[in-house]
Amino acid sequence: MITSSTDQSVETNTNHLLEPHWAEITAITPEIEGVSTYWLKFTDPLEQAAYSFQPGQFNMVYVPGFGEAAISICSDSQDRSLIGHSIRFVGNVTHAISRLKVGDVVGLRGPFGTSWPVKQMEGKDVFIACGGIGLPPLRPALYHIIRNREKYGKVTLLYGARTASDLMYTNEYDSWREANIDVQVTVDRGDSSWNGRIGVVPMWFYNFRIDPRKTAVLTCGPEIMIRFVIFEALARRVPPESIYVSLERNMKCGQGSCGHCQLGPYFICKDGPVFRFDALQPFFNVEEF
Ligand SMILES: Cc1cc2nc3c(=O)[nH]c(=O)nc-3n(C[C@H](O)[C@H](O)[C@H](O)COP(=O)(O)OP(=O)(O)OC[C@H]3O[C@@H](n4cnc5c(N)ncnc54)[C@H](O)[C@@H]3O)c2cc1C
Repeated sequence: MITSSTDQSVETNTNHLLEPHWAEITAITPEIEGVSTYWLKFTDPLEQAAYSFQPGQFNMVYVPGFGEAAISICSDSQDRSLIGHSIRFVGNVTHAISRLKVGDVVGLRGPFGTSWPVKQMEGKDVFIACGGIGLPPLRPALYHIIRNREKYGKVTLLYGARTASDLMYTNEYDSWREANIDVQVTVDRGDSSWNGRIGVVPMWFYNFRIDPRKTAVLTCGPEIMIRFVIFEALARRVPPESIYVSLERNMKCGQGSCGHCQLGPYFICKDGPVFRFDALQPFFNVEEF
């Protein structure tokens, strides 16, 4: 049963809060134009062995001379050998990361933030609605669900991107389908080679049959998409307590000191990034029906 908005708070090892710890880039997987996944391993094997995270949490990734960026962890939380970060090259730090090679090191602080409520969702249907680079923070939740598939009801992933070439992790969809995840993909613009759905995620969300009494909705992606997904979910009578949203804001400290990521009374780095929607509702401009 989904209980409260703070159930997903995760105890964080305080040694990791302020000081970056060095991690080596062991592999780089190009994903889509301008996005690659960096596979990291702490240079200290003891640190690597001790590191753990929950699906939905993020690290602060540090490049000396450039600074830090908050990046979600996109790898399997049960695989303690490597930490995966899918990074879009948008600005100062991420462009510096794009110039790094296998064998180079970055600093890591974390894990930070709240996580997807994978435990509370047991016994429920799960509807994941995400867009663009909103899929990486949800991938660890998918891995968790797949590993514990018998504990969940119907699981649907509705994922949208601008074009087919902007879809992340396409080589994994078949294995997710084999694990009885209903993977539904849509693009904003299709070309002659695209035979799938066309249209934005909230539009297709409207087309799915869901039982609002037993469905948890998880959403992450562009804020405009999130707003409309929530709007549609509420319109389908999914209670705000069963809707979970991961938010992004410009972040600096990652641990609730600097206030850069404040939303109403919350610090997104510390009280989020994953929120139960009833906690956000007063500050998030989506009317309940
Ligand atoms: C909890 C969390 C998880 C994140 N996970 C990922 C991830 O998995 N992969 C990834 O590529 N990025 C992720 N981001 C976004 C990433 O932290 C920002 O894009 C970051 O600013 C990049 O640093 P930069 O120095 O390269 O860009 P900057 O030089 O800081 O900024 C580049 C541009 O992006 C804008 N910007 C900065 N931060 C944000 C933001 N959070 N939302 C919207 N616009 C912003 C700036 O105003 C500027 O216009 C996440 C952010 C948060 C808060």
